[in-house]
Amino acid sequence: MSSNLFAHAVLDWFDQHGRHNLPWQEDKTAYNTWVSEIMLQQTQVSTVIPYYERFMQRFPTVETLALADQDEVLHLWTGLGYYARARNLHKTAQIISQDLQGNFPETVAELEMLPGIGRSTAGAVLSISTGKWAPILDGNVKRVLARFYALDGWPGTTANQKILWQHAENNTPRERVGEYTQAMMDLGATVCTRSKPSCLLCPLQKQCTAFELGKADQLPIPKPKKVIAVKQTYMLLLQQENPHEVLLYKRPPSGLWGGLWSLPQVNDLRDTLNETGLELDEGSIKTLEPMRHTFSHFHLDITPVIAQVNTPTDCVMEGKALLWYNIHKPENVGLAAPVKKLLKTLSN
Ligand code: SF4
Repeated sequence: MSSNLFAHAVLDWFDQHGRHNLPWQEDKTAYNTWVSEIMLQQTQVSTVIPYYERFMQRFPTVETLALADQDEVLHLWTGLGYYARARNLHKTAQIISQDLQGNFPETVAELEMLPGIGRSTAGAVLSISTGKWAPILDGNVKRVLARFYALDGWPGTTANQKILWQHAENNTPRERVGEYTQAMMDLGATVCTRSKPSCLLCPLQKQCTAFELGKADQLPIPKPKKVIAVKQTYMLLLQQENPHEVLLYKRPPSGLWGGLWSLPQVNDLRDTLNETGLELDEGSIKTLEPMRHTFSHFHLDITPVIAQVNTPTDCVMEGKALLWYNIHKPENVGLAAPVKKLLKTLSN
């Protein structure tokens, strides 16, 4: 199939079956497109929609986002995961608003210099919001191309990335680029899906190598598996006089759950005093059902513990930003996902 025919087939399919009424398609500004693209990384459209709507209601422009407090940005992101995305979004909004007078760069190279924007996101923002020629290679497009050309090996290797970008460039048309970008994302999300692709409904079926070989559901070749480590921790739901208040602290700005508010953690409950400087009332300790939270590179097995803390409030966890969080009057702060879950359990 020539590159022209590829794009035609995809665009014809898009006209009839693509998604044309997503909230970020109402007004395809660079800001709207960028926020939606960042939210859509590793996340499905149906999950993103309510988050996008809340976010845009609060931050309708890049300036309002730039001026916001990081806690509020993270609060509106709570539950979407991959919080570095939110922190980078905030940083980039500040750069655009303060250094670039509110104007988004108009080349892939300049967009790529901003925090959290890679080549594919830059291509999507540019093609959708300006119609400029800029290919994309997000997870969906990678899957479609890896199958269409029956790519040999895992798509994430440097050599295969190069091959896939080359295919992406060759197939991206000069006309209707923004729609083609959207069309490829839609095709990957709704037809050429991760499992059980609907090849019979696919506009590329006639020329697709994976389909011809009967290998559509075996491609792309998955990433070689590595054994994922398991770590253990206790999460402390600490209370003092007010039974509705639980102690939270703010995590350092980068790293795991960076900038989010979390519960104090210890590796060994008997060693809480040494690890945190907190003295627990032994008679009050109650252990809850353990839970597992999985990060990309390890599982964290969490044992939640409710306890009264005897340490005077002003001596608690010196040097850390602290908050006695009232579970019935929650503050607008970003919470790590398991912390949010535990606080909800407690309020019930
Ligand atoms: S024919 Fe099947 S495997 Fe090939 S691109 Fe279409 S949906 Fe994907």
